[in-house]
Amino acid sequence: MAFDYDLFVIGGGSGGVRAARTAAATGASVALAEESRMGGTCVIRGCVPKKLMVYASGYGEVLDEARAYGWEIGEGRFDWRPFREKLHAELDRLEGVYRRLLDGSGVEMHDQRARIADPHTVELADGTRKTAKHILVATGGRPVRPDMKNAHLGMVSDDIFDLETLPKSVLIVGGGYIACEFACILHGLGVKVTQFYRGAQILRGFDDEARGLIADSMRERGIDLHLGTNVVEMCPESEASDPAHHGGTGSDAAGGNGVAEAAPGTKGPVWVKATNGDERVYDAVLFATGRKPNTDGLGLEEAGVELARGGAIEVDDYSQTGCPSIYAIGDVTDRVNLTPVAIREGMQFVETVFKGNPTPVDHALIPSAVFTQPELGTIGLTEEAAREIEPVEVYCSSFKPMQSAFAGSSDRVLMKLVVSVETRKILGCHIVAPEAGELIQLAGIAVKMGATKEDFDRTVAVHPTMAEEIVTMREPVRRS
Ligand code: NDP
Repeated sequence: MAFDYDLFVIGGGSGGVRAARTAAATGASVALAEESRMGGTCVIRGCVPKKLMVYASGYGEVLDEARAYGWEIGEGRFDWRPFREKLHAELDRLEGVYRRLLDGSGVEMHDQRARIADPHTVELADGTRKTAKHILVATGGRPVRPDMKNAHLGMVSDDIFDLETLPKSVLIVGGGYIACEFACILHGLGVKVTQFYRGAQILRGFDDEARGLIADSMRERGIDLHLGTNVVEMCPESEASDPAHHGGTGSDAAGGNGVAEAAPGTKGPVWVKATNGDERVYDAVLFATGRKPNTDGLGLEEAGVELARGGAIEVDDYSQTGCPSIYAIGDVTDRVNLTPVAIREGMQFVETVFKGNPTPVDHALIPSAVFTQPELGTIGLTEEAAREIEPVEVYCSSFKPMQSAFAGSSDRVLMKLVVSVETRKILGCHIVAPEAGELIQLAGIAVKMGATKEDFDRTVAVHPTMAEEIVTMREPVRRS
């Protein structure tokens, strides 16, 4: 049977675009449909604009540090508008790059929503139907708000980049990557940040010692972090029964009558009652309460594709769904929701389907970073998880790094190795430090190669650096 294309990709994010390009490079005829902007979450409303905001938010501390080093610098002030303008110009440029790459690879682009009509047919929003030998679903995910009254008053991460002005105060709900990163970013840009996390410690799933240090650093910087706390009730400030008795305001914008002005782009001041009884008005609320796979209305189940609870597409090790002609990669499969993993999954899909070399996706030992201030870089097992599996030795060093300590900062960094007693292999490496994302990328190579503690010991230190501690820890702090 002749198809219109060898491959039809639904979703123009990092994973979909890479799969489309590499498939086209094998000589396959490829089409890609994207309903929003090319580049997807990472480029348009995730990693890239977030990282530029991380950079922007760090300069306040750099200026303070420079003063401590003897530089004469006047008071600085961050201006959101010119930054936002430049940010959007950069996103436009990057989207252009993505489009040119697809075009140059011979991928036919369709700027509209697509759904699966049958195992070999895709229907575009304008009603056009296209057939393909293979369909790849790479539709990503989207942020979700909690199921509670007035939740629409809260922003989600997508909204941050479009704010016309920054709110003076914000309540961030959640304790995951996005909540903690935006707490640090917005605080660094001068916003008064309160964060509620319902659990006992932020960044669930990461190494306990690292989580504790990051929480301490966030608090020391001035983030008002409340653990074991959640939102009970919220409403527009104007509708709160008695604003004068709301126990104070998180907003400097609130006047004597307790009515704050809406920061343009936000949904206006919000009155929030917390589980700890606290009642306050915030200029804005940001829900960073998780993400959901984009599978609604895609026609997947009708085509025989199974969805897991939560809506993620079920796939095997080769990213193939229960319908043999349909594959899925990236956040829509809710495996490891990181851009480089989606890209890998896309490339392994092409290797398997278009290069005749079946290659399962390797999800073991993936390094990653949380761009808080300071950052967390991590690979492998946490101490807690490793201990459940086998006897381990823990090597750990926490100290004040030279650069910020000289400037009077109490910030500490953490270098930690979790080592198998039996094989001596590094099971986990956790770094809390400035640029920990950069550090873990390099340490990750050694860990992925199966390096032992003795391999690290044999490596000569680079002096004077923070990272040298990773090869100079001689005695374990714990054995278990
Ligand atoms: P996470 O799943 O990491 O965090 C969601 C947070 O919201 C958790 O703290 C969760 O609490 C809390 N939560 C969930 N539901 C509710 C609720 N109803 N009320 C109150 N709190 C709630 O999601 P994120 O959105 O932060 O990130 C999504 C994914 O995106 C990450 O897993 C990561 O893979 C990726 N990402 C990666 C980044 C990076 O690499 N630097 C940056 C940003 C995102 P609890 O812990 O109790 O469940």
